[in-house]
Amino acid sequence: MKAVVDKQTCTGCELCVQTCPEVFKMEDDKAVAFVDSVSAEVEGSCQEAADGCPVTAIKIEK
Ligand code: SF4
Repeated sequence: MKAVVDKQTCTGCELCVQTCPEVFKMEDDKAVAFVDSVSAEVEGSCQEAADGCPVTAIKIEK
């Protein structure tokens, strides 16, 4: 599983970073997914972060 943040859409609210810091971090006021592949242990919280993004900027690729 892979997560991608659409920088154009991201508002920098930091919610995904709080929900899943194993995958997301802030970079220049926008969130980025800094892992190439999401490990099985954090797939749940990564999905939760994607579902919780207020502007639906996180795309999950299986
Ligand atoms: S939750 Fe969405 S809008 Fe907020 S920082 Fe993460 S990707 Fe950006």
